[in-house]
Amino acid sequence: MFIKRVPQFEYHVPASLGGAHQLLSRYGRQARLMAGGTDLLGAMKRRDMVVGHLINLKGIKGLEGIDFHETAGLKIGGLTRLGDLERSAVVRDKYAILMDALDVMASPQIRNLATIGGNLCGAVPSADTAPPLIALRASVVLYGHSGQRTVLVENLFKGPGESILGPDEILTRIIIPPPAEFSGGAYIKLMTRNAMELAIVGVAVHLSLDKDGKTCRQATIALGAVGPTPLRALQAEKVLGNRAIHEELAKEAGKAASREANPISNIRATKEYRTEMIGVLTARAVMKAYERIRKNRTKGGQRT
Ligand SMILES: Cc1cc2nc3c(=O)[nH]c(=O)nc-3n(C[C@H](O)[C@H](O)[C@H](O)COP(=O)(O)OP(=O)(O)OC[C@H]3O[C@@H](n4cnc5c(N)ncnc54)[C@H](O)[C@@H]3O)c2cc1C
Repeated sequence: MFIKRVPQFEYHVPASLGGAHQLLSRYGRQARLMAGGTDLLGAMKRRDMVVGHLINLKGIKGLEGIDFHETAGLKIGGLTRLGDLERSAVVRDKYAILMDALDVMASPQIRNLATIGGNLCGAVPSADTAPPLIALRASVVLYGHSGQRTVLVENLFKGPGESILGPDEILTRIIIPPPAEFSGGAYIKLMTRNAMELAIVGVAVHLSLDKDGKTCRQATIALGAVGPTPLRALQAEKVLGNRAIHEELAKEAGKAASREANPISNIRATKEYRTEMIGVLTARAVMKAYERIRKNRTKGGQRT
């Protein structure tokens, strides 16, 4: 088999964010940041991207790690590997919706290289961590020459492969709010096989219930792989608001979500199939999130 080599490039490993910025301003459009390289190196090999200067972020201390605080929530370093998140007891216990995504991403080998920051910054519409993070109302911290800014994950994407990051900005951290009482979520990914597959459709639902354990106080629904960017299904969220959750209501929300998305037909699925499956999966994810909250409620804990 013919294997393409990566074209020649200069390799840099800065030890600080300042050092990375210096390199970015010196080499401009020829420079590219690298985290795990699982997306980037493939694109370079395929000549989809020409990179003269590759800046590996892994030499910068403090960009990796998972830190949970009951009031501040979860802080995840942008360079944290998906495998480390998958092995985190805090993520598994308190952010099950994110764990749903990690469990079905790529393969263990890829997850041990790939980072959560790389998954978001690649801005692929099917990126699996995006819908759960949007549903959790997570933000990212972007660090550039002019300082630091915090942006909701739902506002991070501009189009396929295009994010709002400026040319000198580095995603340093992801912040997820602490789990609220009686809240929880679920992510469901439609694939043609159980591993090593991009989402045909991905649906994340996060619910907060009233004390009665039935009425939906707030719903956040995010869809992946059904438009140029991951998106919120705002009308479907409205369907659930202030109503007692049950299967028929979940199906109604599913129908609303189907109407909000604008999927394309491609080699992996037709527009019609995707549209149908948004409805089915939204309804399933609503019920899965609901059952999770109720189960957890009887155990006396919180899980989102
Ligand atoms: C076989 C295979 C299977 C895969 N399966 C899945 C899957 O199931 N689901 C899925 O969502 N993805 C999948 N992917 C895609 C990929 O593995 C993930 O998107 C991964 O999380 C990318 O992270 P990375 O650290 O490798 O990013 P890199 O490849 O290093 O970078 C990706 C992009 O993000 C930019 N970047 C990275 N980190 C930062 C940062 N901190 N600040 C600013 N810019 C940054 C880079 O410049 C580059 O443009 C798969 C890839 C392969 C090869």
